[in-house]
Amino acid sequence: MGIDKVTAIVLAGGSGKRMGGDCKKQYMLLKGHPLLYYSLKAFQDSPVDEIILVTNEASLCRNEIVEKYHMDKVTKIVPGGEERYESVYNGLLEAKDSDFVLIHDGARPFVTEEIILRCIGEVKIHEACVVGMPVKDTVKIVDENGFASYTPERKYVYLVQTPQAFSYPLILKAYQKVMKEQPPGITDDGMVVEYLQEKKVKLIEGSYQNIKITTPEDYFTALAFLENKKE
Ligand code: C5P
Repeated sequence: MGIDKVTAIVLAGGSGKRMGGDCKKQYMLLKGHPLLYYSLKAFQDSPVDEIILVTNEASLCRNEIVEKYHMDKVTKIVPGGEERYESVYNGLLEAKDSDFVLIHDGARPFVTEEIILRCIGEVKIHEACVVGMPVKDTVKIVDENGFASYTPERKYVYLVQTPQAFSYPLILKAYQKVMKEQPPGITDDGMVVEYLQEKKVKLIEGSYQNIKITTPEDYFTALAFLENKKE
């Protein structure tokens, strides 16, 4: 898009253990298409220039999704790591000629073109952006015995989603530090940039439908969203 090269890194390198069952989560069918198809299709139809897919099932993904649905922006398929951040790092190493990267969970099928465009626009201003939505429930921080120790003011509490968008030099530097120092508990890319302490991470609007399909009830929520979607 424009003179800057924007690359999407789509993650499907997890084990899907929390879903249970035998079928790998990324191939689980949702209204006739594999789960992973939906997020790849959103990026394929968006202005991003290239998609890097992270999966340990390269040939299956290539045959059953990338080629079958003519996703010609998927130019590289790279293996996943033990942890999510290791999978992201593998993807980042293949994105060397990019100016900006959008890192997305393949398990979030409801990312929209609008969200992708917002990420691309905002990352050019802020360099580090994550999409998220304000919580609707009150959040409590609990101690190790399960007692409430703190109740943050709700307007300052967001649930964070993906895509998470960064300037490439910033996110590569941040990931190199994390790979070297291996701090515990890294669960999103925003945290990796926070750990570097060079640039603040900007929260931008996602959507309440942009859920991650993690456990069986998420699957039924996703089906309901798809049933309601206009063709
Ligand atoms: O584990 P979590 O729910 O945070 O996973 C979010 C996304 O990251 C999923 O799309 C999953 O496939 C991916 N992932 C990965 N490599 C891992 C763990 C998770 O690509 N080792």
